[in-house]
Amino acid sequence: MIRRWFNKVLGRTAKASGPTIHTASQHGIRREQIHPCALKVTRTLAENGYAAFVVGGAVRDLLLGREPKDFDVATDATPDEIRRLFRRSRVIGRRFQIVHVYCGADTIEVTTFRAQTGEDEDKRVTADDGMLLRDNIFGGQEDDAARRDFTVNALYYDPVKQEVWDYHGGVKDALGKILKMIGDPATRYREDPVRMLRAARFAAKLEFHIDPGTRAPIAQLAPMLERIPQARMYDEMIKILLSGHAERGVRQLRAEGLHHGVLPMLDRILDDTSHQAFLHAALHDTDQRIRHGQSASPAFMLACLLWFDMQAAWAALKQSGEPDQATLYTAMDETLERQRDAMAFPRRLDGLIKEIWALQPRFEQRSGARPFRLLNHPRFRAGYDFLLLRAKGGDAPDELAQWWTRFQDAGESTRQDMLAQSPSGGEKRRRPRRRRPRGPRSDAPDIPSGDH
Ligand code: ATP
Ligand code: MG
Repeated sequence: MIRRWFNKVLGRTAKASGPTIHTASQHGIRREQIHPCALKVTRTLAENGYAAFVVGGAVRDLLLGREPKDFDVATDATPDEIRRLFRRSRVIGRRFQIVHVYCGADTIEVTTFRAQTGEDEDKRVTADDGMLLRDNIFGGQEDDAARRDFTVNALYYDPVKQEVWDYHGGVKDALGKILKMIGDPATRYREDPVRMLRAARFAAKLEFHIDPGTRAPIAQLAPMLERIPQARMYDEMIKILLSGHAERGVRQLRAEGLHHGVLPMLDRILDDTSHQAFLHAALHDTDQRIRHGQSASPAFMLACLLWFDMQAAWAALKQSGEPDQATLYTAMDETLERQRDAMAFPRRLDGLIKEIWALQPRFEQRSGARPFRLLNHPRFRAGYDFLLLRAKGGDAPDELAQWWTRFQDAGESTRQDMLAQSPSGGEKRRRPRRRRPRGPRSDAPDIPSGDH
């Protein structure tokens, strides 16, 4: 039966209107796989006479046998009507109003069916270049399906009847591992250039091929990403970088020509072969952490991606003859500000990024009390993880990384031996101790942990 359905689905072309309805025995999604909060929301909406479906990524991922990241609900109830049904809820957004419904610590995003065109044209605001600035025209479910981006993202699961409603052949494309834009791809990218980044992200995450027609306009339209508000750019990039599929994601961005201009850091790193080993070590490591359920911070990722920019800025400033410590902080600030022109990452990340960078020269100081002070630094772990990546990428000596790996866990006497034997430690001991003048040494500044 499943096979017959499978063949039927594969043989079928997308219909212009009206959904294909796939039953539970065909699509294989079980109600128990739906998040209890999403079930509660759809049940309440249905009991009050509204249409209510789980939609988007959750249906796609369940169909593919993957665990969904989050559960979104679509309904014909308006944001105000949704608000009235759920005491713990609030309306979010202006460009695109959605309602957040809260159950305990969980949040379900509930969206009202939107139309691509409508009579209330004043609620849809389009710029001269076709970009959608506001999109709050409500419509039917079929309209809602048409304004979604990819066919696999326009699948609706009804938890009551346990049916999947498919308006654009999304089930067929999911089985064929094809990412295909609904409607005319160039128009859809012009409406919202972020869809180009989404194409790269989903292709990487789902290991899908981008349909040739969907892929073709990207090369020409990529510069439109420059018009995207920097905060949205940051959100999208973080979704790629912390998806657990960053390595493939970044490769996909490069393949689509989406790394140029708007993301100077990727531009430089990807086009400079001497830095690729470090970048790939960073992306690979982050992917592994996320897949093993460990945390990965945006600040650490940005510290990796901007490391060589910062180094270059520092090297240039050092030539001015100013003390290293001062120039290091100037270089860090300059690097972060320059990146902000393209992608506005929150300022609260700056502190950790700078700490990770500032700790790096301190790992070179392996004499006296300094290594012990460094071990007690609150950001030691992040700094050490960064050092390991640098060693993997050929940017720091393996011997240095291994030394710190051993030193952390060694007993007291081993530590004293290591201090005596380390290149800087041994040399240091032979010299008479002398108070350093104020200010850092030129080769390895001892940077205070302060408030940066
Ligand atoms: P993820 O697994 O990353 O959450 P997702 O498909 O759920 O993937 P979301 O960003 O959560 O992606 O969006 C939910 C749904 O909203 C999408 O599946 C898609 O149908 C629709 N959507 C989101 N962003 C856009 C967009 N820029 N243009 C058109 N439709 C969009
Ligand atoms: Mg989602």
